[in-house]
Amino acid sequence: SFSAQTGGSKLEGKVALITGAASGIGKETATKFIANGAKVIITDIQKDLGQQTAHELGPNATFLPCDVSKESDISAAVDFTISKHGQLDIMYNNAGIACQTPPSIVDLDLAIFDRVMSINVRSVLAGIKHGARVMIPRQKGVILCTASVTGLIGGIAQHTYSISKSSVIGIVKSTASELCKHGIRVNCISPMAIPTPFVMEELNKYFPGVESEKLAKMVNDFGVLKGAVCETGDIANAAVYLASDDAKYVSGHNLVVDGGFTTMK
Ligand code: NAD
Repeated sequence: SFSAQTGGSKLEGKVALITGAASGIGKETATKFIANGAKVIITDIQKDLGQQTAHELGPNATFLPCDVSKESDISAAVDFTISKHGQLDIMYNNAGIACQTPPSIVDLDLAIFDRVMSINVRSVLAGIKHGARVMIPRQKGVILCTASVTGLIGGIAQHTYSISKSSVIGIVKSTASELCKHGIRVNCISPMAIPTPFVMEELNKYFPGVESEKLAKMVNDFGVLKGAVCETGDIANAAVYLASDDAKYVSGHNLVVDGGFTTMK
């Protein structure tokens, strides 16, 4: 359904690094970045799936294993990108995990908080730090992050996830204010629920035995916009826009892609 916008040259000659790109939003964004002329370093903690995704996407995609909870992995991925392509134009800090919390705050094990913060927040800080390290000397670049509508409105059993995603929005605004003087734009995208693997895994825990089709429909039914459901392609199109010169004066922004969902909360 996105064929009209699939091809183009909005990112011709650009080099992008995307975390958590073996599947879901990251994979779809890599696909659209490449369709728009970019070369993409796909990174993920899942090695086999990452290799497979890079193979599927063709010669302009290269896979590199990277666990975003380790600053050294992120730093190495940035250095790999420079040694392979000579530049980094777009750093997309997309990897993230679901909340994994019990329904009640009373039962929350705070070790879960530390884990979610390390993968959803510390990783984003590290990604911006190392992206900026190589972008500042060139006085240009684009940094993107994936936040969530949950960072804006919260939700049941979202204690740690919502904090993590609000933090992403805060980091984006703070770093955008510093990096603007170097010609670097920093933005994030807040998607609403899409039935990607981690969402489905999480739902399986709450609704054991329920078929995936039913669970996916449950996710899609959160949507309020008539005649459409939120797809990874919607997020990828937003990422292409923010990464391209179409958004050359957009920085420090949280682009909410939710079909109006949060306006009703
Ligand atoms: P996904 O499960 O399809 O993809 C997430 C990827 O991140 C996976 O390939 C996974 O292996 C990878 N990953 C997990 N931990 C990692 C780590 N430590 N290091 C490197 N990679 C790691 O899910 P998705 O929906 O595409 O998620 C991408 C981003 O979108 C996440 O930040 C998520 O929080 C955010 N998001 C998703 C939704 C949704 O409903 N799907 C909504 C709002 C925000």
